Amino acid sequence: MGYADFYRRSIEDRDAFWAEQAKLVDWETPPATICDASRPPFYRWFAGGRTNLCHNAVDRHLAQRADQAALIYVSTETGQEKVYTFRELHAEVQRMAAVLATLGVGRGDRVLVYMPMIPEAVFAMLACARLGAIHSVVFGGFASVSLASRIEDATPKVVVSADAGSRGGKVVPYKPLLDESIRLSQHKPGAVLLVDRKLAPMEKVAGRDHDWATLADRHQRTQVPCAWLDATDISYTLYTSGTTGRPKGVQRDVGGYAVALAASMKHIFLGKPGETYFSTSDIGWVVGHSYIVYGPLIAGMATILYEGLPIRPDAGIWWNLVEKYKVASMFSAPTAVRVLKKQDPAFLKKHDLSSLKALFLAGEPLDEPTARWISDGLGVPIIDNYWQTESGWPILTVANGIEKKASKFGSPGVPMYGFDVRLVHESTGEELTGAGQKGVVVLEGPTPPGFMQTVWRDDERFVQTYWSSIPGRQVYSTFDWGIRDEDGYFYILGRTDDVINVAGHRLGTREIEESISGHPNIAEVAVVGVADPLKGQVAMAFAVVKDASALVDDKARLKLEGEVMKVVDDTLGAVARPARVRFVTVLPKTRSGKLLRRAIQAVCEGRDPGDLTTIEDPAALQQIKDLVAS
Ligand code: ATP
Ligand code: MG
Repeated sequence: MGYADFYRRSIEDRDAFWAEQAKLVDWETPPATICDASRPPFYRWFAGGRTNLCHNAVDRHLAQRADQAALIYVSTETGQEKVYTFRELHAEVQRMAAVLATLGVGRGDRVLVYMPMIPEAVFAMLACARLGAIHSVVFGGFASVSLASRIEDATPKVVVSADAGSRGGKVVPYKPLLDESIRLSQHKPGAVLLVDRKLAPMEKVAGRDHDWATLADRHQRTQVPCAWLDATDISYTLYTSGTTGRPKGVQRDVGGYAVALAASMKHIFLGKPGETYFSTSDIGWVVGHSYIVYGPLIAGMATILYEGLPIRPDAGIWWNLVEKYKVASMFSAPTAVRVLKKQDPAFLKKHDLSSLKALFLAGEPLDEPTARWISDGLGVPIIDNYWQTESGWPILTVANGIEKKASKFGSPGVPMYGFDVRLVHESTGEELTGAGQKGVVVLEGPTPPGFMQTVWRDDERFVQTYWSSIPGRQVYSTFDWGIRDEDGYFYILGRTDDVINVAGHRLGTREIEESISGHPNIAEVAVVGVADPLKGQVAMAFAVVKDASALVDDKARLKLEGEVMKVVDDTLGAVARPARVRFVTVLPKTRSGKLLRRAIQAVCEGRDPGDLTTIEDPAALQQIKDLVAS
């Protein structure tokens, strides 16, 4: 079957399509209903069915692949490397489940996981799934205020944490941040379970804090069966990156998520049981949930959990792992590839990468030079995929597992099965069906399995935020701009709030960025709209150059600034020309590689940039502050 037919069936014959996909996972009781769409936009998948994510990720593989690698842990921070077979993973997860149960965790209870990239973090997630508890993983890079607000929102019975993480060889203590956040939070968790990596000293709070190793010792052989859960029960909550504002607690189900991941591993990620999958993300992000932990394991693959930087001990570390563990599919983000691109390209040629079938990239726009560089270097297809924390799995990409389809540079691809993707006019809600018409990317309900159920404890916010922004129709807004070409490929043009209004002209900051990137000496650029008394807003550009020798003095700077402006004039027209182009050595980004345009804009307008706990490098914002002040 070609992809077009496969896709059409997923929309027009939805129940039959997904009933078939549901066979990719084990059910204790098969679902009675496939899609319950009786109360839009609260779609319920596989109602009546009973299953368990941990059973599908671990237990069901014991019969055929108990001694095969399941979790491969590599830390270039501590030098540890350990392979857990499915049998061993099964034992570890049960120990963790037994310990959590003794701390009072049961079905429906929340467990907040604030952990570095260590195996115990994965055990904790799977143990929650096993018990029917709801995990809420908070990215280890968050500091106490962000963590406190998440503790308050999730109201966990137990927090699982560690003494410290490590980044670039520097110990990052977690425990003091956790203590402070619990002090700040209205809600106090009953217990804190701590993994002591012996990286930093820990002071335990009597009666509240427990040592993982001590408790685990008492449960060497305790068996904890998987709780059979309703397909529509909650598996986890996870907060969005917060790039555009207050993070939203995305809530996901059990059965729909299991089916969505199993299907995506097969149709999109080309994952075969016994192969190795390597996602360089973090368990704190949705990619980590779907494609470090659950997806690969559900598919019977070994998954690599990597703690460390992509350039330490050197820029060949990832390729070294690909060779050593015969990685078949790899998942990363454009920002990481850009980091590697600044290093010696010889690192790409030093290792045998013949096992690798494809590299998947997601999380932000993939620019053509980055895509070409890595594609030429690896000699495998680079597959851009567009999705959100909310969707749980790709909305736009190519499903090479169904039909080999060429990727187009600059486009993540076509709508994935189950996603009824439309482009609509932002203010009239009119549907835009012509090629090249620019609109808001929206989804017509029902949203597919794996999609968020609601905002945790806030159905109202779910409906208001996501389903009410387009006049006259109840569709899910992605809050991203897109266009579609004549072949049905979509192009993402940026976020709807990244639009600026210059003297009545509406311009996408991303379009201006693309134009500026066309200058041969620009490596990376961020464009924001800044309030201007005359024009309403003006565009401000902050660029990183490839060759800094072009910036020897002010005269040279001005010359380059003029050249860049000319590029914009020539490609988009003078209305889009930035008021200034300033040069910096690094752009402010979140730890997950997203440009912090909101913070840049605030600084340019002399406002407080707000919550910056996810910023990768605070000095990057300081550079902009200094330039703006000068
Ligand atoms: P918040 O919603 O809290 O502001 P966020 O949107 O940054 O945070 P995520 O869910 O992690 O949080 O990111 C999803 C967004 O990332 C998408 O809506 C889109 O803007 C961007 N994105 C993801 N993948 C791609 C891609 N392949 N191409 C272009 N943009 C992408
Ligand atoms: Mg978002």
